[in-house]
Amino acid sequence: MKIKSCLACLTLAGLAFLPIHQAESIDSTQYMLKVRAKDKFERSVVANTGASIERVGEDWVLAIANLEEKNQLEKLGWVEHSSVLTSTMDFPDQDRDFHNYTEVKAALDELVNQYPDLMRLGSIGMTHQGRDIWSLRISTNPDFSENKPAVLFLGGHHAREHLSVEVPLRFVQWLMSEYKKGNPRAVRYVETREIHLIPMVNPDGLEYDIEGGRYKTWRKNRRVNRDGTYGVDLNRNYGYQWGTGGSSNSPNSETYMGPQAFSEPETQAIKLYIETHKNISILLSFHTFSELILYPWGWSNGSISEARDKAVHEKMARKMATWNKYTPEQSSDLYIASGDLTDWAYGTQKVISFTFELDPANQWGSGGFYPGQGVIQGVVQKNIEPCMYLLEYADNPYRSLDEAAF
Ligand SMILES: [Zn+2]
Repeated sequence: MKIKSCLACLTLAGLAFLPIHQAESIDSTQYMLKVRAKDKFERSVVANTGASIERVGEDWVLAIANLEEKNQLEKLGWVEHSSVLTSTMDFPDQDRDFHNYTEVKAALDELVNQYPDLMRLGSIGMTHQGRDIWSLRISTNPDFSENKPAVLFLGGHHAREHLSVEVPLRFVQWLMSEYKKGNPRAVRYVETREIHLIPMVNPDGLEYDIEGGRYKTWRKNRRVNRDGTYGVDLNRNYGYQWGTGGSSNSPNSETYMGPQAFSEPETQAIKLYIETHKNISILLSFHTFSELILYPWGWSNGSISEARDKAVHEKMARKMATWNKYTPEQSSDLYIASGDLTDWAYGTQKVISFTFELDPANQWGSGGFYPGQGVIQGVVQKNIEPCMYLLEYADNPYRSLDEAAF
């Protein structure tokens, strides 16, 4: 059956008349290209190579091309980015339960299909390579934002930290299944809170990390740097005390801060999203690994100067640690790191902000960034109650200070 349909394809393409060895030598790899093309005339030049234009931007297009078409466009000097098409971007077989970019989008679409009156899915920006950064907003009044207290859950700033995508995504899936079953807490939070989910901040990096079914221990995004190296560390690119320590100005470094604060489309998108959703009172940014609960500051050894803000971060972190057994501490107690999301979100927007470094506790014997799909359920499970706790106090995080000491 498979052979027959292949032959049919070859016949249709007029290739059946070629000698077998020539037909076999045709490269079937497809590429996703971001191509500079400023008007319909230049777009026609792109289309005339045979590449298919999938999306048209102001002065660029996304196109799918074979090797020959890609070569033609590269000769014109118009190709800004190219990557092998998504079909080869997948996890190794033994880790297929992890979600790649396409599967994250499918999972978000599935939630929207199940709860169309409660969900709004949108692209909040586009990466260097032309992938959308997806955001899902859950509310009983989803067309009128800012009328309820909100929590923002984010994952996937760092490419190789795949568990950080799974936990917020699967928490929201769990919450909605509990809502459907009538779990009173789930119903109350869905009805009285807004829940914002951005599960994959850095899709370019993540897809690169799994390209060809082999892990590459990639951390950054996929900007082409001025020296030909790749990537900016997105969690060193936020614009609060940017570049003041614990990040590098060398483009080849793992912690490259970028040419300037908010130079990257991913961090710009998150910035704008938080600035335009003023009802977000708390955010939780997932990373891996080390089993830690971190809060500002990262840029300074000094602690938050407003006493109540310092107290609320400390108290909430300690409380959440009672469930997941992670270690709560100020971020800079680990090491100085400037330009991260939580410093910016608290420092400029006064959002109560946490970073979780998920399982495992250490690299040795537990898989580090690649602990295997067997751990997913357990790590999601132990982080459900911390997420529910943040939803509980979203209306007024300072209310947590009235809770009895523990
Ligand atoms: Zn990280």
